[in-house]
Amino acid sequence: MFNVFQHMSTPLPTHARVVIVGGGIIGCSVAYHLAKSGWTDVVLLEQGQLSCGTTWHAAGLVGQLRAQESTTKLIRYSTALYAELEADTGLATGWKQCGSLSVARTAERMTQLKRTAAVARAYGVACDVIGPREAGELWPVMRTDDLLGAVWLPGDGKANPTDLTQAPASSKTRV
Ligand SMILES: Cc1cc2nc3c(=O)[nH]c(=O)nc-3n(C[C@H](O)[C@H](O)[C@H](O)COP(=O)(O)OP(=O)(O)OC[C@H]3O[C@@H](n4cnc5c(N)ncnc54)[C@H](O)[C@@H]3O)c2cc1C
Repeated sequence: MFNVFQHMSTPLPTHARVVIVGGGIIGCSVAYHLAKSGWTDVVLLEQGQLSCGTTWHAAGLVGQLRAQESTTKLIRYSTALYAELEADTGLATGWKQCGSLSVARTAERMTQLKRTAAVARAYGVACDVIGPREAGELWPVMRTDDLLGAVWLPGDGKANPTDLTQAPASSKTRV
């Protein structure tokens, strides 16, 4: 259980074990995980509305592969969480594991993508180096006659950032 205060229109409590400032995806996620871990008396303060900040602008692309292994692990955890958040909270998140394609039209770009694939495998992220025909089968509207190849990450996906922020703050909150 955690309490959300938006617009500061509600009297604030005089005491809280944890006060989180900012109701974007990060603040709501921190509050959600604290509540899941059994922390009570958690307060989240938002000056506007939940997800009204940078989160509102996000396209919602969820790419697992990051520059560092730790952040890659974090995003992999996020994709697993997004898949179960709707069942947990009753609110849709728009999560769809549609995968992602990165394409190469030059030899240099292809070399870069192969390096990307090697890093992905080292981090434990499912990743395939594929040819233009396979890429075209995955996304048929794409022109492929000028491609040398592509990298396919089947675990990537997309979500609705606003819904994703509301879901963890939903039934467990007082607004
Ligand atoms: C155009 C664009 C596209 C993007 N696309 C993607 C994408 O496709 N995939 C992806 O993973 N990331 C994307 N991002 C990045 C992503 O949006 C951010 O990393 C993420 O939203 C940051 O979340 P946050 O909770 O840290 O910040 P915010 O969402 O900005 O939340 C901070 C909150 O704190 C509140 N606040 C600030 N000060 C106070 C205060 N003093 N008191 C009370 N409340 C306060 C603000 O009102 C705000 O709601 C994109 C970003 C942009 C700009």
